[in-house]
Amino acid sequence: MASRLRLRVGPLRSATATTPWLCRAQSRVAAPKPEEPQLPPHSLLPNAMLWRSLLVATISSHPWLLTPALRLLSLIVHPRGSLFDVNQNPVLRRFLKTTFYNHFCAGENAVEVTNTIGRIKTMGFKGVILTYAREIVVDASSQPASDPATTPLESATRETVQAKSPEIEAWREGVLETAEMVGTGDFLALKLTGAGPLVMQALSSGQPLPRQMILAINDICARAVQRGARIFVDAEQQSIQSGIDRVALDLMRQYNRNGTTGVYNTYQAYLKSTPQTLLSHMDLSEREGFTVGVKLVRGAYINSEPRHLINDTKSATDDSYNAIAAGILRRQYGPFGTQRRFPPADLFLATHNRQSALAANRLYQERMAAAQPTTKVQYGQLLGMADEVSCRLLQLRENNSIESRTTSPEVYKCLSWGTLGDCLSYLLRRAVENRDAVGRTRQEYIALRAEAGRRIRNLFKV
Ligand SMILES: Cc1cc2nc3c(=O)[nH]c(=O)nc-3n(C[C@H](O)[C@H](O)[C@H](O)COP(=O)(O)OP(=O)(O)OC[C@H]3O[C@@H](n4cnc5c(N)ncnc54)[C@H](O)[C@@H]3O)c2cc1C
Repeated sequence: MASRLRLRVGPLRSATATTPWLCRAQSRVAAPKPEEPQLPPHSLLPNAMLWRSLLVATISSHPWLLTPALRLLSLIVHPRGSLFDVNQNPVLRRFLKTTFYNHFCAGENAVEVTNTIGRIKTMGFKGVILTYAREIVVDASSQPASDPATTPLESATRETVQAKSPEIEAWREGVLETAEMVGTGDFLALKLTGAGPLVMQALSSGQPLPRQMILAINDICARAVQRGARIFVDAEQQSIQSGIDRVALDLMRQYNRNGTTGVYNTYQAYLKSTPQTLLSHMDLSEREGFTVGVKLVRGAYINSEPRHLINDTKSATDDSYNAIAAGILRRQYGPFGTQRRFPPADLFLATHNRQSALAANRLYQERMAAAQPTTKVQYGQLLGMADEVSCRLLQLRENNSIESRTTSPEVYKCLSWGTLGDCLSYLLRRAVENRDAVGRTRQEYIALRAEAGRRIRNLFKV
């Protein structure tokens, strides 16, 4: 039996789930403190995922490998000849598909995506956030115009004469297909600019969305909610964000009633304006009686946004992120919870930052243990990134006793799906993000290398 234990080189969680003697052996050991798991977090990764992660982390953490890899990837995103065109070069296509694509993306069709979702849930994740990868590049020169008289979704009732947009139709079909792949408790993420230039123009000018888009959003949300899933409205560039906020508020008014939270808006902590934006949405929520769904991120567009809109330093963004999370968890933010009633809220922390995730979990656990009022919180990381954070949160769940299961962290992986061609811009963004998160990428590489070494050593143990 001992040699069977030593020979096991795969993920350890599945061993505990299927091997009663190992469960018994573990139950004799004193329960570890919640934030000191006994095994390294990466021990939860299946073998294929571990080796792919190691390949990507090796490239991302060595500038002499990453710089040419990034150059190659941008050549592939904008190919000038057949050599770099994934639709014309089968060798390149196969290499990309089995390495970077499979590392960061869920699949090219429903079968591949469903298999990936199954694997993620088997690892212990509560669910997935699924998004359709098609995206367009935002024109940074777009300027928002003055406030329109109606909200974007109200204008669906207006009889505006507009030609049918093929981009909106393609987006509608793609996102509806995505809605068919999510299940109960999962999330469907909506990136509105994926619907093309007409939508972009409406969002940036403050005009109502095209009627075709409003109907598409209504169809998509209705289908996702029917399937028991929830909706994230993704945050994007500042030039269109107030338009996106208006759409999200209308959806929250519609779907977040009677104790259910069907829709979450995304709040970017790197913006100086975000605390004020959130307070104004809480004000509406408290006055109008809908639940405010808060998906909290730091913000992904720092390289393209006007710099003065963003906090001056990384630590100011960290402080803002942590203060918003703690405020919602304590149910005291701005005047809410002191001078005014704290509105119904739900919190989703979309972050790769270990300190932020663990601090929030600690605060939530403390408040639950002391029976103090708090807000339900869930966590999410992108597929192929920050597995150390995801797996650490999962281990905290494993370490909790059966009785306290209700306070265990609920962790999600965010998956993008689409053809290899559709996902290329997404892959490039992930590669750049990995380059910018130098410290974490290096730590991830060292931890993955240690885990790979542990599994190889176990192979040779008798
Ligand atoms: C599940 C999920 C969903 C997401 N959805 C969205 C979305 O809808 N919209 C969106 O914009 N992003 C989204 N993101 C990306 C997110 O905004 C961050 O870019 C990314 O997660 C990195 O931030 P972090 O919290 O993981 O932590 P860290 O890696 O600790 O923080 C990095 C972030 O800090 C900020 N930062 C870095 N340097 C500075 C500086 N000098 N001054 C001020 N701030 C700085 C930037 O926002 C940077 O991205 C999502 C991320 C996840 C995991």
